[in-house]
Amino acid sequence: MSAARKPSPPESTAGPSPIRRTPHADQAGRAKSPKPSPLARLGLRSDWDIALHLPLRYEDETRLTPLDALRDGATVTTEAEVIGTEVQGRAPRRQLLVRLRDAHWPQDGLTLRLFYFYPNQLKLLQPGARLRAHGQVRQGLFGWEMVHPNWRVVDVEEPLPQTLTPVYPTTAGVPQSYLRKAVHSALNRLNWHDTVPQAELTRHHLPDLQASVRLLHAPPALALPALDVGAHPAQRRLKFDELLAQQLAQQQARAARQQWKAPPMPDGGGVETLPALLRAAIPFSLTAAQERCVAEIAADLARPVPMHRLLQGDVGSGKTVVAALAAAQAIAAGWQCALMAPTEILAAQHARKLADWLEPLGVRVAWLSGSQSKKERGAALQLAASGQAQLVLGTHAIIQAQVRFARLGLAIVDEQHRFGVAQRLALRDSLRAGTQGSGLQPHLLMMSATPIPRTLAMALFGDLDVSTIDTLPPGRTPVRTTVLSAERRDDLVARVGALAAQGRQVYWVCPLVEESETLDLQNAVATHAELSAALAALPRAADWPPLRAGLLHGRMKTAEKRATMQAFTAGDIGLLVATTVIEVGVDVPNASLMVIEHAERFGLSQLHQLRGRVGRGAAQSDCVLLFTSPLSPTARERLAAMRELADGFALAQKDLELRGPGELLGLRQSGVPGLRYADLAHDADLLEAARDTAQRLLRTAPEAARQHAVRWLGEGFDWLSA
Ligand code: ADP
Ligand code: MG
Repeated sequence: MSAARKPSPPESTAGPSPIRRTPHADQAGRAKSPKPSPLARLGLRSDWDIALHLPLRYEDETRLTPLDALRDGATVTTEAEVIGTEVQGRAPRRQLLVRLRDAHWPQDGLTLRLFYFYPNQLKLLQPGARLRAHGQVRQGLFGWEMVHPNWRVVDVEEPLPQTLTPVYPTTAGVPQSYLRKAVHSALNRLNWHDTVPQAELTRHHLPDLQASVRLLHAPPALALPALDVGAHPAQRRLKFDELLAQQLAQQQARAARQQWKAPPMPDGGGVETLPALLRAAIPFSLTAAQERCVAEIAADLARPVPMHRLLQGDVGSGKTVVAALAAAQAIAAGWQCALMAPTEILAAQHARKLADWLEPLGVRVAWLSGSQSKKERGAALQLAASGQAQLVLGTHAIIQAQVRFARLGLAIVDEQHRFGVAQRLALRDSLRAGTQGSGLQPHLLMMSATPIPRTLAMALFGDLDVSTIDTLPPGRTPVRTTVLSAERRDDLVARVGALAAQGRQVYWVCPLVEESETLDLQNAVATHAELSAALAALPRAADWPPLRAGLLHGRMKTAEKRATMQAFTAGDIGLLVATTVIEVGVDVPNASLMVIEHAERFGLSQLHQLRGRVGRGAAQSDCVLLFTSPLSPTARERLAAMRELADGFALAQKDLELRGPGELLGLRQSGVPGLRYADLAHDADLLEAARDTAQRLLRTAPEAARQHAVRWLGEGFDWLSA
């Protein structure tokens, strides 16, 4: 763990933070008193909360540095004798200078600059008094200085602390000394019963709980290097406990789901079944990876327990056909299937593709979206509710309350991570409501093109089965990626025009300007005008149609967007200027050149998603990443990774290392929700260990498992219905 990746804490003083800190997980539903106590203001309610309020960092006051051993910039504790004091300036700029010396350096050794001091402190600072000061030393104009140090008067033989001094995350008006006392008494009051059996600790080489927590509040100086990188056994113990609670909750949720019932949809396997007919109609044969995923899903659907499966595969890996086969299996068994996509463009594309495949086989398809006319919508709702529509496609309009299905047996969610929390909850509710009156829950298949590294998938979706399409369909040529400075943009515009004139279709992506959709739009509009002019200026045979550039952005009406996409798909538009609305799932096999402006502003997964829009046909495809200097070190690494890596999983792993798991998943915060200590980019082994222990604990010691989950997730945690 390094300080750089942490969310910035309230007291973000310099120095490595030994352990991640975010506010305590479970505060919801607890009464707020009108005048919160200092601890309550930090979200600390129980002794356990306080014990787990771990230091942000530590100060080493266990050793004294003599004055002749000071180094510029070093943070040290030193002890010396006051020679004299002097008040400089006037209030409020008043400063107190304290001059010190020690035996090693009897001249004017070190000056402390104090900004806040009281008259009675001045009395303490008589010549001859011994001071112990802790702070950063600087070589100033008039010798060594320590600005605003921690200091106190000490006796000659006053012993040094044996342990590192903790610095706790805190908030205004809650001093460190208060927290230290609160922690001290909480540690002494706690019932240290260990919820993790000794056998598990031995198995995973983990230390005792009480010893670990006590150590983290007062570690020996020797522990500092390990603590700084989050690798100390005591830290590993707490990370393990946290991950264990999370894994227990997820495995419990999974066990609970096994009690629910879903319609079994046996995979007939005959030649005349809908899945078989669909296979025969598809113009290609499935890859081995696709076949494996199809088989895994088919087996789930055949069981009378709701499927809860994530189908992940890199962009272009061919998830749609796998979903179509699942839909066919559900429909063949007499159930309805709903497919939900995050954007209208994508939903429309699915609608077209699935309808092209399934309608000729007699499947009735209905389409639901937020932008259709009342009449169209009414008709679609009627088809869903009567059961006539066997396949219902659309955006999240599908899970709105008015939508009723006669016999919903399978729900498919494409690009599931693009849906917001509210939409996911609505989906869960509509699935829980189940199929009218039957007491059955539909099967759920989620799809994601953001390849989630295994560790992250396990932490986030421990209660989910995962199928992975890990190879691309054959015949693809890898996309060639070029990183280009924006200073050469004019050359690029000319080159792109020439290529477009040769018939290559081009995406030109303008970045999302954070927090300013308007700017974003202006950008895209201006670029569109510029590129249109460049295309118009190209020499062209008189009988050829003019080369056109299209524009696609989020503010356009759905019908306009759809028309533009259709024109691009049909090849009527040679170049498409777009904001990131094209990021998701769009499939135009003939497009073979992708330009991304301000590529340095995009995250790795996003760049990879965008690049995945090309390279879908057999032709050599290119992706040009334009960047504007200066590049931050991370941006530089990202662009280099894009140039060197083609595999989405490798890129996702890199992204996880560069940015932390939160951003990878498009979450605002930089951690996995609910994880305070564990860091999934670095603690994968602990996650495996926690998963292993959780399985055994639930089987052999359910009461210890429950206690452990409650300790970490709070009393309010609903163990059984999670
Ligand atoms: P994604 O996983 O990104 O959703 P798609 O399902 O859109 O990918 O598939 C990308 C393209 O690859 C589509 O044009 C699709 O028809 C094609 N495709 C899918 N599977 C195969 C295959 N086994 N062989 C050849 N082409 C395939
Ligand atoms: Mg897709």
